[in-house]
Amino acid sequence: MERQRPPLLEVKANTELKKSLAKAPSRLPLSGSRLKRGPEQMEPALEPAKKRTRGLGPAPKIDTLCPRAPPLSTASQSQGQAAAQRFPRKTGPCPPSTVLKNQRLVPPAPAQKPAASTAPPVVGGKKPGRRPGWDLKGQLCDVNAELKRCREKTQTLDQENQQLRAQLQEAQQQASALGTERSSLEGELARVRAQAEQGQRELGSLSARVRELEERLSTQEGLVHTLQKEQLELQEERRTLTTQLEEQERRLRASEAALSSSQAEVASLRQETTAQAALLAERGDRLHALDMERRRLHNQLQELKGNIRVFCRVRPVLTGEPSPAPGFLVFPAGPGGPADIPTRLSLTRSDDRRGTLTGAPAPPTRHDFSFDRVFPPESRQDEVFEEIAMLVQSALDGYPVCIFAYGQTGSGKTFTMEGGPEGDPQLEGLIPRALRHLFAVAEEMSSQGWAYSFVASYVEIYNETVRDLLATGSRKGQGGECEIRRAGPGSEELTVTNARYVLVSCEKEVRTLLQLAHQNRAVARTAQNERSSRSHSVFQLQIFGEHAARGLKCGAPLNLIDLAGSERLDPSLALGREERDRLRETQAINSSLSTLGLVIMALSNKEPHVPYRNSKLTYLLQSSLGGSAKMLMFVNISPLEENASESLNSLRFASKVNQCVIGTAQANKK
Ligand code: ADP
Ligand code: MG
Repeated sequence: MERQRPPLLEVKANTELKKSLAKAPSRLPLSGSRLKRGPEQMEPALEPAKKRTRGLGPAPKIDTLCPRAPPLSTASQSQGQAAAQRFPRKTGPCPPSTVLKNQRLVPPAPAQKPAASTAPPVVGGKKPGRRPGWDLKGQLCDVNAELKRCREKTQTLDQENQQLRAQLQEAQQQASALGTERSSLEGELARVRAQAEQGQRELGSLSARVRELEERLSTQEGLVHTLQKEQLELQEERRTLTTQLEEQERRLRASEAALSSSQAEVASLRQETTAQAALLAERGDRLHALDMERRRLHNQLQELKGNIRVFCRVRPVLTGEPSPAPGFLVFPAGPGGPADIPTRLSLTRSDDRRGTLTGAPAPPTRHDFSFDRVFPPESRQDEVFEEIAMLVQSALDGYPVCIFAYGQTGSGKTFTMEGGPEGDPQLEGLIPRALRHLFAVAEEMSSQGWAYSFVASYVEIYNETVRDLLATGSRKGQGGECEIRRAGPGSEELTVTNARYVLVSCEKEVRTLLQLAHQNRAVARTAQNERSSRSHSVFQLQIFGEHAARGLKCGAPLNLIDLAGSERLDPSLALGREERDRLRETQAINSSLSTLGLVIMALSNKEPHVPYRNSKLTYLLQSSLGGSAKMLMFVNISPLEENASESLNSLRFASKVNQCVIGTAQANKK
């Protein structure tokens, strides 16, 4: 009965279907894309539809719309259904738009007046001619035929509708599948986007990392460049070093060759040395024996010269002093002529006090003196020292030595002992020269196994009191009381308490000590005028020698004494307080000097009692006088006539000493 439905309803139904299809989200274009047709296929399909919109044209053939579908007019329902079932599977649905377009293009058939004639119905698709208005019957027939066709068409459209519904359902299924696919794709897209973002972030961090790495790379490249440069330098250095090494190796080989030859030489030298050592030992023994012999002979020589000797030294006339009359002091030549060493001196003076009976002045008196040696005014310091050098050396051999300078004030005692103004080495006196000589000889003897040490002290004896000239600090110039004591119970040695004993080993130290003594005297001089000339200065050098290998020891003191002025006080002078003090001083000096003379006499006469203790000077020098001691006295004489009387006194005193012969000295050997 559905087939009987009026065409208008079907058209309406198709329109609704079209609307619903248009509204529904269609996936058909996607599916259609699979069935895409070219425009050449679409145009012929559209052409009949256009015709139909203008009039009652023949119904479009289905096969033009869908080539695989059977023709509407001939296809049976079963065939149509079968085709509908095959269609989507094999070719896909026909594009709905095309179908709907065709549907829409079918207008509702207008009601027309039936023809009056019964013209045969149109068969075979040929368009019947227009019936006249009166042919109602014919028109009716046409209408019926038309109706029949419409019904067929409706039937076809129903089938089509069903097909479309099926297609729609399938399309919906596809849509939902595609929705699912889309959501999964969207999920995928989100994931991909997230991945992309992540990738972007990673890319960003990687870019930073890349930049960092690039920076590092450039740094590393710089480093590599530097290292390459360094490598080149090092290679260059290495080449240089290699060259040097080769050179060194060459030298080393040469040295080794030289060494091996040297070793052979050394071996032979060792043998030689051993032989030489034996020889040396033998020679050492002989040398020692010879040295002992030398000492013995040296001593013998000194003894032959006299254990007590007196040298006379006349100082030159100083600037501003009156020249003495010619012949006042004469130095007669010895028996050997001027070549002989001068030993004689004559002083000629006219004594005003002595008158002749006639009242005429007495003729000048000539006083002749003879000494071990006489030094005229022009004698130099080194000449004087040369004469005593051997004597000084006796102190090293173990014989005590005393060298005195005797004479009136201003006769040149201090000049002889210490020297002239400072700084002039030509004017150095006996003390610095003697010490220099001793140091040099000790140095020489060290090669023979002797080791020497020297201890110096310097004191002055004024008015029978002893004062240290080497005092320093608060004691400087004050010179606290010193006492002469025995070094120990039963000891022969004497020491001065509170006095400094200084170890000396070189000239410089000795010079310092002499300067210190000079300063101490200068300080004292301010307190008591010209005290230095009124006191005895005693420079003592203790000498200690040791020959460890042979177990020998020897040592003796060397004493260098600058005696106080020997002048006497004129008793005719008025005795004021100052003069009285001066007289007391002089008496003390005279007493000590005469004690010295008496001691020498007693020693010379081998008297049992020697009055050492009668003066501080002789007591201090006790161990250096007599016995094994050697003594030398310089008698210093002024060249001036005005000092003739004092000069005569000095010469007489010295002559007496010179006549003394002290017993053979014994060396202090242990
Ligand atoms: P003393 O110590 O006996 O009192 P000095 O040694 O002080 O005498 O001498 C007195 C002066 O004579 C000093 O100026 C000294 O320089 C000078 N004199 C002494 N002897 C000589 C000499 N041999 N040559 C040059 N000048 C001398
Ligand atoms: Mg003096």
